[in-house]
Amino acid sequence: MTDHPLQAWRDTLEELGVMGLVREPVQVAPVVATDPPPTRQPAVRPAPAPAPRPAAAYAPPTDPIGCPTAQAVAGATSLQELQLAIQGCLACPLGPGRLKFVFGEGDPLARLMFVGEGPGRDEDLQGRPFVGKAGELLDKMIGAIGLKREDVYIGNIVKCRPPDNRTPTPEEARACLGYLHRQIELIRPTVIVTLGATPLRELVGVSEGITRVRGQWKRVVVGNREIPVMPTFHPAYVLRQYTQDVRRAVWEDLKAAKEWVDKAQEG
Ligand code: SF4
Repeated sequence: MTDHPLQAWRDTLEELGVMGLVREPVQVAPVVATDPPPTRQPAVRPAPAPAPRPAAAYAPPTDPIGCPTAQAVAGATSLQELQLAIQGCLACPLGPGRLKFVFGEGDPLARLMFVGEGPGRDEDLQGRPFVGKAGELLDKMIGAIGLKREDVYIGNIVKCRPPDNRTPTPEEARACLGYLHRQIELIRPTVIVTLGATPLRELVGVSEGITRVRGQWKRVVVGNREIPVMPTFHPAYVLRQYTQDVRRAVWEDLKAAKEWVDKAQEG
């Protein structure tokens, strides 16, 4: 054990199975947030936007009991206002079963935003996204690109826990998507990282297997902005498939996302 400030970084990379890419601690420094950003262009440019998604502007169901008005969602000028407007939502069958509403958290001006599928048991208990084992790993993944959890924003496709941690149905995802869109409009991230197949399908409209498309830039249109999207594996999948190849793939995806953010800040 050493007190060298880069030791934690090295430990994380070692856990992610990528130490072979970094011979000496000093070579890691360029991707730490406080150091000069890389000067080379990201190797892969974002792909053209896929077919436009159906408009996801929030539309309350015909029975509006328990749902905010469209004006309250569209008119929210901060994340706090939006959360207050929607935290009592019962617009889909997941609402009545939740213990806590999981709005999302992080830097409201984050350049990098992560979108997962939905709350699990720990998240439902705490009202926070990505806590528990998968959350711990996500924190390490974020740390491996030189950032902290507080530097990014973390949200989900649905804000209430699906029973037995099942995948949200397309109807549930659609009912909640307008809220996520408004969050994205308010945060204005430079890059979105989708975690697993569900956010890639529901937010970006790409239904191909995550194993096939991870690491390939996509784009999503939210409001009047096109945002580059980097799809990668969900941390829960990484925990189940804890191989060096999977961990290295996630690290490379996040590294590409971070490089894109740095490049955008330079320009
Ligand atoms: S999952 Fe979304 S749409 Fe469904 S009840 Fe919860 S907040 Fe409302």
